[in-house]
Amino acid sequence: SGARVRRAKGRRPPQFLDLDADVKFADVAGLGDIRKELEEIVDFFTYGEKYRRRGSKIPAGILLCGEPGTGKTLLAKAVAGEAGVNFFSISASQFVEIYVGVGASRVRALYNEARENAPAVVFIDELDAVGRQRGLIGGSGGQERDSTLNQLLTCLDGFEGKGEVITIAATNRPDILDTALVRPGRFDRKIYIPKPGTKGRAEILKVHARNKPMAEEVDYDAVAEMTDGMVGAQLANILDVAALGVMRDRRSEITTDDMLEAAQLEEGGHPDPRPRSDYLLWMLALNEASMAAFAANCPDLKQIQLVTIIPRMGEEKGAVRFKTDRTKFELQSVSRQGMLDYIAVQLAPRAADEIWNGVDNMSTIWADTVDQARAAARDFVYAGLSDKGDLYGLHDCVYNYESVKSVDVEALKVVNQCYDRALEFLKRNQTLVNKLVEILVKDRVVRQVEFAQLVATYGNLDPPPPSP
Ligand code: ADP
Repeated sequence: SGARVRRAKGRRPPQFLDLDADVKFADVAGLGDIRKELEEIVDFFTYGEKYRRRGSKIPAGILLCGEPGTGKTLLAKAVAGEAGVNFFSISASQFVEIYVGVGASRVRALYNEARENAPAVVFIDELDAVGRQRGLIGGSGGQERDSTLNQLLTCLDGFEGKGEVITIAATNRPDILDTALVRPGRFDRKIYIPKPGTKGRAEILKVHARNKPMAEEVDYDAVAEMTDGMVGAQLANILDVAALGVMRDRRSEITTDDMLEAAQLEEGGHPDPRPRSDYLLWMLALNEASMAAFAANCPDLKQIQLVTIIPRMGEEKGAVRFKTDRTKFELQSVSRQGMLDYIAVQLAPRAADEIWNGVDNMSTIWADTVDQARAAARDFVYAGLSDKGDLYGLHDCVYNYESVKSVDVEALKVVNQCYDRALEFLKRNQTLVNKLVEILVKDRVVRQVEFAQLVATYGNLDPPPPSP
């Protein structure tokens, strides 16, 4: 498959040709509707004549916009692969040379190669390196860049509407591109490549698992849920790292745990080198399970995506990952009750320690969440939401010892009330917490669906408040 490169005798070999570009759309996962737009570009090559006769416009250039690692290069290769045409690529940062004229001559050479081997896709990565709005950067480099940019514009214009050579460029900064570049007939088609969502991440993981020795029952969804915010390149890396780990341990199959561990490395977290005793694992599980169980009772927090005792970067122990309305929290428009719920959730680990282990055997494993609870309680009091209702000014409190003291006294009351609520709730939900702990110790994660089922089966939640 793939198109052949015509090589006249005596010519030097093409320097921009990518020979291992046999990529297909099936190699790019999680695209959704974007795929249709790209299929149309493939059609420009295959049915170019038809488009021209109908008078439809074939763009000379297509701009793929998106963060690094989202698969823009891969997509451009897939377009060439699907159309069976040659793929020529360069990064625009390589155009920007110090010697005047070098950039422009490289652009010319690139397009000469593509023309000689048409039909072809020319891929220009980091277009913004050369295509920045003119005049944005001063100095002598600016002039050189202008001549490169002008050359690129000329080349694009030469191919407009022919469908022989189509340029696909990638950038993360479409906003700073020179307006001449995005004029009709040039890069007049923009396609945004977003970061993949949970479903897309699972699909990408599966694509990269295709040629790897995966265990029979691998939970891609669990890994997808753990990798919020990651792009395709990172997900591909996770599978490579997992595969290496398996080889290193002389095992034969990649398991869910291998992937989760690799995901953690990718995130910058490191697997805890300290071995964890069974007791410690159980305590960590109790910590997270108690928080999750209490949260199930709270309207703002009950949507739980994941409970885990695998630490990630910035986490010491594990986490309960909420599916909260982030803007609501960021805009600090959480209700009074929502704040009290949050404080109680943070106190749940201590309450659980007291119930399960007894006061004499308590540890301080919950110290950090109790700190969070205290800080939140102070905010609560500052905002005048406590029963006392005083609206404290922050400055007041900094300069006035009496105010600081009365805020602390009031915040302590709030903490104590929330603590009692957590104690009461956990005592009545011991079965639910025990089930969660059991699974966490065994599997290290409890996911959304399983969590909801456990709550429905074993939970002893508060009755919903009467509707107003
Ligand atoms: P970009 O050009 O946007 O920086 P790349 O296309 O270079 O990203 O992605 C790097 C690698 O990450 C790809 O070669 C591929 O292995 C993987 N990758 C990225 N996105 C995807 C995706 N949507 N599906 C499958 N693999 C992907």
